[in-house]
Amino acid sequence: MDNSAKVQMNPTYSKKWNKILEVIQSQLPAHNFRAWFGSTRLKEVTEQKVVVATPSAFISQQLGLRYLRLLEQTIVQVIGQPLRVEFIVEQFKKEQKEESREDVFKVDLRPQFAVLNPKYTLDNFVVGLSNNVAYAAAQAVVENPGISYNPLFIYGGTGVGKTHLMVGIGNAVLAKNPHCKILYCSSEKFTNDYVEAIQTRKMGELRNRYRLVDLLLIDDIQFFSGREGTQEEFFHTFNELQARNSQIILTSDRAPAEMEKLADRLKSRLQGGLMVDIQLPDFDTRVAILKAKCLERGELVSEEALKIIAQNFESNARELEGKLIQVIQALKIQGKELSVETIQHFLGARQAINLQNIHYSRVLSTVCEYFNVRLSDLTGPKRQKELVLPRHIAMHILSEELAMTVEKIGEILGNRDHTTVMHGRDKMKKLMLVDQETQRMFSDIKNSLVSKGH
Ligand code: ADP
Ligand code: MG
Repeated sequence: MDNSAKVQMNPTYSKKWNKILEVIQSQLPAHNFRAWFGSTRLKEVTEQKVVVATPSAFISQQLGLRYLRLLEQTIVQVIGQPLRVEFIVEQFKKEQKEESREDVFKVDLRPQFAVLNPKYTLDNFVVGLSNNVAYAAAQAVVENPGISYNPLFIYGGTGVGKTHLMVGIGNAVLAKNPHCKILYCSSEKFTNDYVEAIQTRKMGELRNRYRLVDLLLIDDIQFFSGREGTQEEFFHTFNELQARNSQIILTSDRAPAEMEKLADRLKSRLQGGLMVDIQLPDFDTRVAILKAKCLERGELVSEEALKIIAQNFESNARELEGKLIQVIQALKIQGKELSVETIQHFLGARQAINLQNIHYSRVLSTVCEYFNVRLSDLTGPKRQKELVLPRHIAMHILSEELAMTVEKIGEILGNRDHTTVMHGRDKMKKLMLVDQETQRMFSDIKNSLVSKGH
């Protein structure tokens, strides 16, 4: 038990945390510091420990793996005594950038409601040809939750706005009825809770939590595939909610019919409601999304200039926003205005750089630098976590960007078998689809590959 007096957010400690960050910043490449420490907060300090809050379990894990020693040393240096470092995952309401896939609720199984990201509303959801049917369904559900379309099943590729629309419905329902009990969670969260409830024999609590709500939102249920116990539990949850006219909204990356390893009776339940898909945005919708994102960020960019970006990136809303931010930042750093010419020039210059022409050794050295590991370790036999992730990332970049064969990649990564390479690459592919941290990491690494030039 830790019964020391808590000095929670004592101002001198916050100052010291800033000092700690300053010292760490001076020792790391800027992109590393940004990626790993940029969104950390000091949660609490006691006489024994420092608790650092991060926005995702992934960041916590990576900080613990790679920077624990640096953190501990810096703490001694700044605070003058050694303290244990602990990481916790916490959603930062105001400044949170993206919805976190991590637990909205921690281990606590008591019912807690309405932890919805306020950033996602129906009002700021841009409607176009690619999503107007889904949007209309969302409006109908807000009008008559539990009645018109139950369940509402929203499906489509990554980054097209499924989570945004679903959480937007939650926020709209809550605005109309502040007492409405709303529960939003990822399918992984549901699965983890289920497993934990079995282990701790707390099924009753689990059921209270998921079955006594007015609106249940479960994100990315493709991850229910192949998990029979979870599906079974969800099936019963589903029936009970439906019987009470509680609204259920689900998202998935594909239609129920295409979900393999999903029990037939569950499939038919899902198909019994309304299924709507969201497609990749067409040109006009892309322009409208870019406009909305500029407005939100307070950036003044002409429509003509935004059209150039929309023309260049036939992609989903998430990537589009990412590109927009990249363009804005790059031009600002160069002290240039955001005009048709500067944007065209910027995009043209970037497109000329083709990662395929980069030598693989540069990929390896960039990955090593990013993760602060030695090349001999990256290509060596050790299998520690802190080496496996960089290795998988290298595999992915070499395969997908440099179009090297898996055999060749295995060879340069210390004579590994090609099936190992395929496994690593595919694992990253999957993570990239769902994990924003991983996406950011890849784009950081690719950017530094590109910015080093030839
Ligand atoms: P998905 O859940 O389908 O992977 P998200 O809902 O997380 O996608 O959307 C990714 C990002 O794009 C979010 O920042 C979201 O706000 C934004 N976005 C997606 N679609 C729209 C839209 N129609 N209007 C405004 N923003 C959108
Ligand atoms: Mg989503």
